[in-house]
Amino acid sequence: MKPLTLLNYARDQWVQGAGSLVELPSAVTGEVVAATGSSGLDFKAMLDHARNVGGPALRKLTFHERAWMLKALANAIMARKEELYELSYETGATRTDGWIDIEGGAGTLFSFSSKGRRELPNSRVLIDGAMEPLSRGGTFVGQHVYTPLQGVAVHINAFNFPVWGMLEKLGPTLLAGVPAIVKPASATAWLAEAAFRIMIEADVLPQGALQFIAGSTGDLLDHLTLQDVVSFTGSAATAMKLQSHPVIARESVRFIAERDSLNASVLGPDAAPGTPEFDLFVKEVVREMTVKAGQKCTAIRRAMAPAEHLDAVQQAIADRLARVKIGNPREEGVTMGALASQDQRDSVRAAVAELSRSARVVAGDPDRSWGNGGAFLEPILLRSDDPWGSPAIHDVEPFGPVSTIMPYKDLDDAVALANRGMGSLALSLFTYDNRVAEDFVLGAGAYHGRMMILDRTSAKESTGHGSPLPVLVHGGPGRAGGGEEMGGIRGVTHYMQRTALQGAPEMLSKVVKQWLPGADKPTGDTHPFRLRISELDIGYTLKTASRTVTLEDVEHFAHFTGDTFYAHMDEEAAKASPIFEGRVAHGYLILSFAAGLFVEPAPGPVLANTGLENLRFQTPLYPGDSMRVELTVKSKSVRDEERGEVRWAVSIFNQKDEVVATYDLLTMNRP
Ligand code: NAP
Repeated sequence: MKPLTLLNYARDQWVQGAGSLVELPSAVTGEVVAATGSSGLDFKAMLDHARNVGGPALRKLTFHERAWMLKALANAIMARKEELYELSYETGATRTDGWIDIEGGAGTLFSFSSKGRRELPNSRVLIDGAMEPLSRGGTFVGQHVYTPLQGVAVHINAFNFPVWGMLEKLGPTLLAGVPAIVKPASATAWLAEAAFRIMIEADVLPQGALQFIAGSTGDLLDHLTLQDVVSFTGSAATAMKLQSHPVIARESVRFIAERDSLNASVLGPDAAPGTPEFDLFVKEVVREMTVKAGQKCTAIRRAMAPAEHLDAVQQAIADRLARVKIGNPREEGVTMGALASQDQRDSVRAAVAELSRSARVVAGDPDRSWGNGGAFLEPILLRSDDPWGSPAIHDVEPFGPVSTIMPYKDLDDAVALANRGMGSLALSLFTYDNRVAEDFVLGAGAYHGRMMILDRTSAKESTGHGSPLPVLVHGGPGRAGGGEEMGGIRGVTHYMQRTALQGAPEMLSKVVKQWLPGADKPTGDTHPFRLRISELDIGYTLKTASRTVTLEDVEHFAHFTGDTFYAHMDEEAAKASPIFEGRVAHGYLILSFAAGLFVEPAPGPVLANTGLENLRFQTPLYPGDSMRVELTVKSKSVRDEERGEVRWAVSIFNQKDEVVATYDLLTMNRP
């Protein structure tokens, strides 16, 4: 393969680094694959471009418009994925490893796109939680909101997943409305550059939204401000260096760190040899050692088993490892490729040497070499019989196909050993006993970002110990960096500022584009069910006539539905309850009468009732009372040309104007 010259993408132009470039070798053959460098870039100008051009353009778009962009980017990656697989082999990755990186990366964008359209409003301010009443008269309220940061997200990525690692950060960043400058790890930068190029060529992003540094970041960090975010993935040493950068400290620049992690997997005390959980544990440890040649931040580095089962665990893992076929990842039948570089292999060997002082190698030969210049390494299983006397096994991260097995005495000991990693990204527990799981979650939850409890019922559909998912939080406390990425919409808010707004409900309603309790409720001549979404104003309200609810209504409803609960049917028993003064109308009857009062029956823009949320019955309605309804447009969101959703705030009052019930009604409407 002819060596590639990697380019930077700065201020919407592709530019080659000045001066001599750094050559990047193939993980498989050792031959030069690409040359890279970023000398000569004006990093301050790149930041300014993102702030002055990219940010404003992204912030003009609504969450839904940005979400559609993510989908287009993911489609572009998928349409050209074979080009990426070709380049991925040279990083040492098998087709399966490449699938996690390339299609897993695109999948993450798809997921953020769909969550953005389903869970975020089709507007630009995100409401956080419910309105807080702050005054007796209701004229002064509080509402938390998120708005996009007005700076740049600087993404500094690790070498192991050049595509996924870039896209899992870009999804939430772009959805939040923040431009990004991506700096991939050099060792595999040719793959990151190719994926980045595909996104630029898809031509769906506004100018200034994305830039790319193919080399060092120069003086970039010197020019950061309070509106910027650094999202870093890599080693603890680099994270600490960057986090203590004087500008980052002085400006309180948000710093998201995803660092190394001594992840644990625990065989439950109940999971003896012969149980399905024992086999699942062995399979998972081997899988985590060999997928991506163990170069996963979430890989199982410490595998713990009851002391009496440790020999059986060792034997079963060694037997499985013996079946692993290592070699050129392009070759048929190869199940484990190479490490990313010879340097990486050297550092794994050094880590194994350090671990060997307190643990012994029981499978694999760390010194075995292949003669073709590739960075191959056999999977290495170590065993420590004295895990409390071997601090290195809880501290040294061999970032390769290496894991250490160790015994535990009882469940408390297992919990303490798992927590001895001082903060991890992922923990897995193999047990069929829910009491074991409960003790583990309480004892270890605070130390781990994600915990997977696996047993015979969930194994088949499990996504595995090592897979971060776009909908779940990725990150962990302490040693793992204390950062959090993804987790669905939580990840988007990492690139936004939360602000507590205070003011009059009407004022805040206009700002957040959602009707808030206490805001105006204008009425009009047209029934709101006759209006399309585009014609409905936020706050527009229908006030219905009232109707009396009789004892016959309650009787009829009870016998018609079968709901003859005493509170509706037995005057004495109802009176004896601490809540009611006598027989009361069914809540469901009240809801049904409410619909009867507000519905406009003819076919029109309202297509269907899709749900009801936050229902609260506040005051009992007694036979002889009357009820009326106020139906208010709370928020609206167009999904596509055919449909959208309207959320209505419904309040039901009695003849004394006391609130009987409140809820949100959801309808699907024509836009
Ligand atoms: P690394 O050496 O710390 O490098 C990480 C990134 O930082 C690379 O892009 C690197 O660029 C950049 N970098 C290094 N020094 C820098 C500086 N002074 N200023 C700006 N950028 C700088 O880590 P790595 O070896 O690539 O990755 C392996 C480590 O990452 C392992 O410890 C692993 O556990 C961890 N990791 C964690 C996660 C997670 O999600 N928690 C995921 C994957 C990996 P260059 O490559 O150009 O030096």
